[in-house]
Amino acid sequence: MTTNLKKPVTLQQAIVYFSDADRAFRYAVELRWPDGKVSCPRCGSDSHSFIKTRRMWFCNGCKKQFTAKVGTIFEDSALGLDKWMTAVWMICNCKNGISSYEIARNLGVTQKSAWFMLHRIREAMKNGSFAKLGGGDSGPVEIDETFVGPSPERMHCSRRLKLQTAITQRTNKTPVLGMLDRESRQVRAQVVPNVKRETLQNAILNQLEGGATIYTDQYTGYDRLPAAKEFIHETVNHVEEYVRGQVHTQGIENFWSLLKRGLRGTYVAVEPFHLDRYVGEQVFRFNNRATKDNPLNDADRFMLAMSQVAGKRLTYSALTGKGQGAV
Ligand SMILES: [Zn+2]
Repeated sequence: MTTNLKKPVTLQQAIVYFSDADRAFRYAVELRWPDGKVSCPRCGSDSHSFIKTRRMWFCNGCKKQFTAKVGTIFEDSALGLDKWMTAVWMICNCKNGISSYEIARNLGVTQKSAWFMLHRIREAMKNGSFAKLGGGDSGPVEIDETFVGPSPERMHCSRRLKLQTAITQRTNKTPVLGMLDRESRQVRAQVVPNVKRETLQNAILNQLEGGATIYTDQYTGYDRLPAAKEFIHETVNHVEEYVRGQVHTQGIENFWSLLKRGLRGTYVAVEPFHLDRYVGEQVFRFNNRATKDNPLNDADRFMLAMSQVAGKRLTYSALTGKGQGAV
C-alpha cells in the first residue's frame, strides 16, 4: 500500500492531502501498521479480509469487523479520518493553540464536533509516556508553579460579581506545576489540586530522578525534599533577586508565558479538568519544537502526535533518523 503523492509539509498541503478520504485512510494505515502487517486490534489475529468499499476489515479470528480507527482516539467517531488528520495537524502545529471555532470553520464541521475532536486529540498528546527528568547527563531542572484562571476584567459583569469573593481567596485559579530540564529543554507540567508541600513533592518525585540538581524559588512547598533522593537543591529569593549566577527559574517562567498567551488568545474559559489537557498540548508543542539539535518540522510533529493517537509511540530516531533525542 504505497502513496504516490508527496507527503504534506504545510497546513495547506495537509488540508488538500487529507481531503481525499482514500489517501487519508492509506496514510493512517501506514502510520498504524508501519510494517504493513495489519492485525485485528481486538484479538490480534492477522487473518482477515479487507472490505474495500467500506475501508474496513473482517477478522477471521473474532469474526468481527474493524477499522483503522478501532483502539485509537478516533474510535466511535462518525467523522472521517480526513477531518481527524487535518485537525491533528492543526493542533500540534499552531504555536499558540487553536480554537474549536477555527477548526470548525476550516474543516466544515460543527463547533461541537470540533470541540470534541480538540479534546480527544489533546488527550492523545498528553498521554505520552515520558521518561523522568534529571537523570544521567541532564542539566539542572527548574521547578516552578503558576496559577491559571479567568482574569476578572475580561469577565461578564454578573459573573464577575459572583466571583469577587472567590478571587480574593484565590480559589478560582488552578495551580499548575512545571519542570524544565535546562540541558534537554524538555518540560513536564501538570495541573495539581493545590500547592501544598506534599502535593508538589509527590509530583516532583514522580517526574525527577534522584540526584538531580534543582532550582526553585524560596516557596516553602519545595523545602525538605527527601534526603534519600539526594537532590541538589538551590533556591533563588524572588523578593531580592531573580537570578543568582546559574540559579534561576526563568526557563520555566518562559513556558508559563507561552501557556498563558495561548489561553488568552484562543480559549474563552478553561475548566481545571480541561486545563490539564491544554497544558499537555502546550508541553507537546514545546518539547517537540524545532531546535538546532532537533530540527523537527510540522510533518514530524504530526507523525509524533499520530503515533500517540494509535497508542504506539515512535522514538525520535526511529521516526526521523535524525539521531538521539527525547520525544
Ligand atoms: Zn479479531
